[in-house]
Amino acid sequence: MKFGGTSVAEASRFKDVFNIVKHRSTVSGKVPLIVLSAMSGITNELIDCAKCAQASDHSLAAARLTDIKDRHYEVVEDLIPLSGRDQLLSALEIDFNRLSILLQGITYLGELSKRSLDAISSCGEILSTKIFSAYAISQKAPAVYVDARTIMLTNEDYGKAIPNLEELSARSQSEIAALMKEGKWIITQGFIGATANGVTTTLGRGGSDYSASLIGAAINADEIQIWTDVDGMMTADPRLVPEAIPVANVTFQEAAELAYFGAKVLHPLTIKPAIEKNIPVRILNTLNPDSAGTLLVEKTDNTEKICAIACKKGQTAIFINSARMLMASGFLAQVFNIFARYETSIDLITTSEVSVSLTIDNLDKLPQIEEELKQLGEVTVLNDLAIIALVGRNFREESGTAHRIFKALADLNIIMISFGASNINVSLVLTNQDADRAIKLLHSEFFSMAAVRS
Ligand code: ASP
Repeated sequence: MKFGGTSVAEASRFKDVFNIVKHRSTVSGKVPLIVLSAMSGITNELIDCAKCAQASDHSLAAARLTDIKDRHYEVVEDLIPLSGRDQLLSALEIDFNRLSILLQGITYLGELSKRSLDAISSCGEILSTKIFSAYAISQKAPAVYVDARTIMLTNEDYGKAIPNLEELSARSQSEIAALMKEGKWIITQGFIGATANGVTTTLGRGGSDYSASLIGAAINADEIQIWTDVDGMMTADPRLVPEAIPVANVTFQEAAELAYFGAKVLHPLTIKPAIEKNIPVRILNTLNPDSAGTLLVEKTDNTEKICAIACKKGQTAIFINSARMLMASGFLAQVFNIFARYETSIDLITTSEVSVSLTIDNLDKLPQIEEELKQLGEVTVLNDLAIIALVGRNFREESGTAHRIFKALADLNIIMISFGASNINVSLVLTNQDADRAIKLLHSEFFSMAAVRS
């Protein structure tokens, strides 16, 4: 059971999480392993603190650290009975002293390495799990705090460390399995790990979902639950389309497409470990724990044409036009080679006899890439674009989907379309500006009651 930052945003939310865990484990008779994020906003605040220190602004860094400390201590005061409070406060005091020393070091050096940033940004999860463990114990739950750094061995790629799955599985069996057999609730951190030398690492922003699914796979969990603040994966972003509804079930592949194309409810890497062990993943809402949420499984009996619409803004399209492409072999290989050398991944691609259009979202190496592409043909770059992905079923086998998409978007300018690359994804490129309207139109085409009935 993984709970995100908004699920542990304040004392009352910690209590909600506890009640959910207790209720679910009582009803199911299953032993929970709980993975927590940092309290909402804390990872960002820790990173800001580190940046102030890097800019040698010690007083601002110290003031921000005090704010972070106050927020945690307020939760402790509201949550933890007096009898257990001192012990928890002295444990937290050690963490805050360490943080303060680290920040001083960074201030003196005026230098913030990725390794130092991990040492700081990992603290939010350590604090939230210590508080939750103390609360669970105060409520007489059989809770055991496990430092994720003892099981989540990673490489030294600070900021985006890669976990060692074999070691995670072996350590989970030795450190956790026996405790769970005794009925103990394991409480541990998402997002963080450690190198073989014990140096703290992080798995990348939003990485707690990924931790949860890795640990779930390592202990062969019956189910991986991602508890968040919405009722599951939605047919579209509900802030934009208020009529959006939760999707009851999706396949792992559909969920992966949606997560990649901007359905922020799940970190895109989360699904991989679940697929490998075929463990169902359920997305649930801490604010509405009785709602069914979304179930991710290998196969579903869902027959809706489109299951959801996702959108990724801030994309860039590159158009390469070259007569040299006409009837030539190896041209595309040359184009892809350039992107590969600059480690820039391509999202969408469409080709005609004399042109290639593709999109990227990492612009770090764009000037160099553009320069090299110019050797191959005429190059045009368009910024501020959005990819809209319609994820659904049987696009290649059944007729009518493209017609409905184009009909719905008749007045909008579609810059690129990728249809047929995948049987479950149609992607369109429009301007950022047109994207919101396009999503609304597509949603009403595929999900309004009239459309569902027809
Ligand atoms: N706290 C981390 C972050 O904000 C990890 C997570 O919550 O998933 O990125």
